[in-house]
Amino acid sequence: MSDACPRGNFYSGVGLHRAEHLRRDPAWLEARLGDAGSRYVPVWRARNLVDRSESTRAIWLSGEDAAALVPRAAETVLLGLAGETAYFALDLSPLEDPGAEPTVPDRGEFLDLRTVGPLLERGEGAILAYARGLVYWHQRHRFCAVCGRPTRSIHGGHVRRCADPACRAEHFPRTDPAVIMLVHDGERCVLGRQKVWPRGMHSTLAGFVEPGESLEEAVAREVREEVGLEVGETAYHSSQPWPFPASLMVGFHARCRYAPLEVNDEELAAARWFTRAELKSSPEDETFRLPRRDSIARRLIEDWLAAGRAGRAAAALTQACPE
Ligand SMILES: [Zn+2]
Repeated sequence: MSDACPRGNFYSGVGLHRAEHLRRDPAWLEARLGDAGSRYVPVWRARNLVDRSESTRAIWLSGEDAAALVPRAAETVLLGLAGETAYFALDLSPLEDPGAEPTVPDRGEFLDLRTVGPLLERGEGAILAYARGLVYWHQRHRFCAVCGRPTRSIHGGHVRRCADPACRAEHFPRTDPAVIMLVHDGERCVLGRQKVWPRGMHSTLAGFVEPGESLEEAVAREVREEVGLEVGETAYHSSQPWPFPASLMVGFHARCRYAPLEVNDEELAAARWFTRAELKSSPEDETFRLPRRDSIARRLIEDWLAAGRAGRAAAALTQACPE
């Protein structure tokens, strides 16, 4: 693998086989649900079960510990297989206080992944993000978007089918693509901030892809809308599952001609050009800080800085990776 290959982003790299061929088999699923060796990843009202007593670790429940919880769960969704071991997401949102359940370890806390994600081992963080994303989708697709009747989970929770025999429309978990881009002119880059962000935080531009638009066109449109710049060469960098709540972030480095910024104050509180030296000396406090460490925005910035240090064009980072 080339040095220029991007390493995986946070929340990617779920180390499970998704078992697409097996999850269609109700008998196989039933056997996995009855297997004490299966593992359950609890999700409660968009929070994941985490142990912070020593290091920060995800907590899985054994099949035995989950047995009394499965019948009271809103959904049980097959995540996949690690060897022969099946992993399920378990939506405990109907319970008022799942921490009080005798089989939920006392050391566990239900926490927002956004507060602990960077502290988790990458593979565990990816599984928690995957579980959270699928549970979120189930919670919001209980009724058919075609006819309004209830839907039922099938295929281990990877499809919901309308229960009305006259409709039977199938609904699939959705992921909303968003482009995120570091706009630069070779020497400087543009970062902006939104009013709702933590004080001092500046980040790359980003926005959702609209229907009828390629990713490159979405990059160009968002940059034009947010800061009034025209981009030229747009190079794909990497992507990141971002289940907050349901996005796939598709990252780019986009070169633009220098031009005065025209900041759209409906979209951004501020934006300006930054030199590499300014970013490298970021105080990381309330006066100025870079985006969170688990975000692709941070990687887009750090890799652009690293490319400058190595005297290489940022575009060199984007060459295709061999398998
Ligand atoms: Zn329907």
